[in-house]
Amino acid sequence: MSDSKLTHRLLGVIENDILPLTLRGVSGGNKVFGAAILRKDDLSLVIAGTNDETSNPLWHGEVHTLKQFYELPDAPPTKELLFLSTHEPCTMCMSAITWAGFDNYFYFFSHEDSRDSFAIPHDLKIMKELYGLEPGGYRRQNAFFTARSIIDMAVAADEPERSDFLQRIDAIRDRYALASDTYQSHKGETKIPLG
Ligand SMILES: [Zn+2]
Repeated sequence: MSDSKLTHRLLGVIENDILPLTLRGVSGGNKVFGAAILRKDDLSLVIAGTNDETSNPLWHGEVHTLKQFYELPDAPPTKELLFLSTHEPCTMCMSAITWAGFDNYFYFFSHEDSRDSFAIPHDLKIMKELYGLEPGGYRRQNAFFTARSIIDMAVAADEPERSDFLQRIDAIRDRYALASDTYQSHKGETKIPLG
């Protein structure tokens, strides 16, 4: 599987499968974080999901997607699957992905983006307060998984794919910026503990 093909597909799943669910979730007061699970062999979608913290503050996009994945009648073994997270997972979610047996995850926005562009500083704050880690201080490559930035993969692609990816990335950023404005303007109205 080439990185170029993988990048193309991961961006497509964000654009077409996760974002529509997230826009609906945000209109109900939930955060903008979403996730999806794909098969490694043909990159087909197994399931996409989004944050549902208004139901349960543990239903981050990733954990909520995992919950729904395990409710599937024939959930495939996680070793055969890729995990896609729109935002670099928080410590709870990266542990959940680990405990579920995935050996990978791919993310679009970084922890720094969550803090700086989405006004959600909790990922980095928890890493610092609980583990003493500075931004970027956790091990993206370790005995359990390899975590990769989709944007880094796009930037490393050859032309003409690279320019195409960067255009799509800008468009995705714009759509998330609007969704984030919606979330932020209503967040005082929900009971999410870390809003
Ligand atoms: Zn999380």
